Amino acid sequence: MEFRDLKRQYQVHKQEIDHAVREVIDGAHFISGPQVTQLERELAAYVGVGDCIACANGTDALQLALMAWEIGAGDAVFVPDFTFFSSGEVVPLVGAVPVFVDIDKDTYNISADSLREAIEYVLHHTDLNPRAVVAVDLFGQPADYEAVRQVADKYGLLVLEDAAQGFGGMTEEKKACSFGDISITSFFPAKPLGCYGDGGAVFTDNEEWAQRLKSLHVHGKGSDKYDNVRIGLNSRLDTLQAAVLLQKVRFFEEEIAACERVAAEYDERLREIVKTPVILDGMRSSWAQYTICLRDAQEREHVMAQMKADGIPSAVYYRKPMHRQEAFAGMLCGAERCENTAYICDRCLSLPMHPYMEEAELRAVCESLKKAVG
Ligand SMILES: *Cc1c(COP(=O)(O)O)cnc(C)c1O
Repeated sequence: MEFRDLKRQYQVHKQEIDHAVREVIDGAHFISGPQVTQLERELAAYVGVGDCIACANGTDALQLALMAWEIGAGDAVFVPDFTFFSSGEVVPLVGAVPVFVDIDKDTYNISADSLREAIEYVLHHTDLNPRAVVAVDLFGQPADYEAVRQVADKYGLLVLEDAAQGFGGMTEEKKACSFGDISITSFFPAKPLGCYGDGGAVFTDNEEWAQRLKSLHVHGKGSDKYDNVRIGLNSRLDTLQAAVLLQKVRFFEEEIAACERVAAEYDERLREIVKTPVILDGMRSSWAQYTICLRDAQEREHVMAQMKADGIPSAVYYRKPMHRQEAFAGMLCGAERCENTAYICDRCLSLPMHPYMEEAELRAVCESLKKAVG
């Protein structure tokens, strides 16, 4: 059994994907081909924002956003303590200080109360200038942007939405990648909308930032790439990846609906025996992960071993709080009070989840899990 079965997806959609890839190779317009512009247009329309700028990966997308805002030395950027490394990695990369903030124990997303406390700490105990908050749509569910926005507005912070896992998620009114002042996603193969290599995109409604982002991701170009007006990156999405994505967006909504059915089935079978994911009223998750919470670390190790013995893959996202990553040692300002993160890191477990899961596979996962927790 696969944790996320990309081969099955390809088998179902082989014809149109092969055709799209062949077209790019025949045309030999490998960099900045017409498929890239078309994808940017389609994704901006899907999300409902003015501009989409495709780039090389989600991590670059985060860095580009911070660069567009000219965040750097002396600035503090608030990041959830429970997320993939990238969300925080880009902060010191631009010379700023990451401040890690605790999460909500149910949704695993950033806690607005902890954000407020961390900002107050920075204001009273450091010389740093609070500039932005990275809100992550972890496992596919949008963060609580109403609450985050309230705190951000109070302290004049910019909101950067990290929807690397959240693309396709939504509230009743808005889609993921439209919640941030700038929002980003990743097309890493295992993400909800994945390509066949690395890829990412930045979204914004602000025209000035959009112009800056378009320049920054092509060597800080001015009128063309041989006229350079700022220091930038070489961070473009390949035409081949854009062509693959243009095919995949056509069945993306169907795939999310299929994931929702898998999640509902898991909920039904597992609700009584483990803590199943909490999706808030009015929220749609893109189901990047289906993550349960066990009683303690010991039970988790036992469950993982049992599942492994039954031939069922599972994964721990994430085992270590961000502020305890060695890479950040010596950079922290002391604001980290992240009890919920520590609790969840010891107990979370992600189960196989993808749109092509079969009933028999789902049953096998649940039976193995039931056997393990007794
Ligand atoms: C995957 C991921 C990223 C980074 O995306 P890449 O395309 O792998 O660089 C950033 N943030 C989160 C939350 C992610 O899950």
